[in-house]
Amino acid sequence: MLAKTFGCCRFVYNWALNLKITAYKERKETLGNVYLTNLMKSELKAEHEWLSEVNSQSLQSALRNLDTAYTNFFRNTKAVGFPRFKSRKNKQSFLCPQHCRVDFEKGTITIPKAKDIPAVLHRSFKGAVKTVTVSMTPSGKYFASVQVDTDIQELLALPTQRDTTLGIDLGIKSLAVCSDGRTFDNPKNLQRNLDRLKLLQKLLSRKQKGSANRNKARIRVARLQEHITNCRKDNLHKITHALTHESQVRTICMEDLNVKGMRRNHHLAQAVGDASFGMFLALLEYKCRWYGVNLIKIDRFAPSSKTCGQCGYIYRGLKLSERNWTCPECGTHHDRDFNAACNIKEFGLKALPTERGKVKPVDCPTVDERPRVLKSRGRKKQEKRGGIGISEAAKSLV
Ligand SMILES: [Zn+2]
Repeated sequence: MLAKTFGCCRFVYNWALNLKITAYKERKETLGNVYLTNLMKSELKAEHEWLSEVNSQSLQSALRNLDTAYTNFFRNTKAVGFPRFKSRKNKQSFLCPQHCRVDFEKGTITIPKAKDIPAVLHRSFKGAVKTVTVSMTPSGKYFASVQVDTDIQELLALPTQRDTTLGIDLGIKSLAVCSDGRTFDNPKNLQRNLDRLKLLQKLLSRKQKGSANRNKARIRVARLQEHITNCRKDNLHKITHALTHESQVRTICMEDLNVKGMRRNHHLAQAVGDASFGMFLALLEYKCRWYGVNLIKIDRFAPSSKTCGQCGYIYRGLKLSERNWTCPECGTHHDRDFNAACNIKEFGLKALPTERGKVKPVDCPTVDERPRVLKSRGRKKQEKRGGIGISEAAKSLV
């Protein structure tokens, strides 16, 4: 039943996407969601009777998803890609917007047309069940994510104070270094499994297309990739939980990293992707909001690694490879990452505290040391400046 619903939703989605594309190409017409839903009910279902065997609301929500995909695409055509056709081999999912129940005593989930599906309910919740999304990973595991309506009392944040503020420097060598001396290691999950992943992908590429052995090899690759993602998520959840659950920490300062820009650097892309700074930021942001911790983002061009935390001297000649350096002005010996974390904290304290709940980059005193030519405005030069900024940010990471 689940497999059938996956298939039907995918079919309807692809049918509508194809229709939308051809309508635009041939007649410059944009087909709306309501029109497509009615067309599906009247024509498509008559043509393919098997569509009536599954929950019709799930089919409608597939069309709604397509509509959202279009809206997202047109809102920002550069950042969001055009909707793609769904494949049988990727992750499958469907949504049940109504008539879902979760029975904790029996350990089952009930969705329309499928009663009492046994499930591992890994946590309990209060409140009314709104929607259930059933998904299947490429390796063949089934998941149900339940959306519930509850009131979460978000904790109120306290004003920023020096002794409850923590600066964090993100990096590849250690994932995060804090200004209170703690470091969180980078487990390098992809690096550790890379040899095996390469081997499995090679085996997959040598199997004949459409064969049963190819499918088995595909599942092996998918399972390993899932394992890597799970390890990554687990580690990041642990770190962000530890950071936000400390009574001594009420404010966190960190660099506002340009993750996308850093991934454009071919030499860093894999390491940056493996460290998954983007996910780190996303998790930290919502946890800060939930647990009432202020989050201050520092300008990514602030010279956090190069400034001496003791006297404020800026060591312009700091190289990537230098993990330690001694300040020529006051003679203090610095550990690169720890010094950066302390400076980030100082920059954050100087900057204005952001309003609660609104996490945005704040202006902070930065030292501009880019060549003077680039400061003048002009399209080409602006682009150049962007390029320099990215490599600068990337450098401070390594
Ligand atoms: Zn110094």
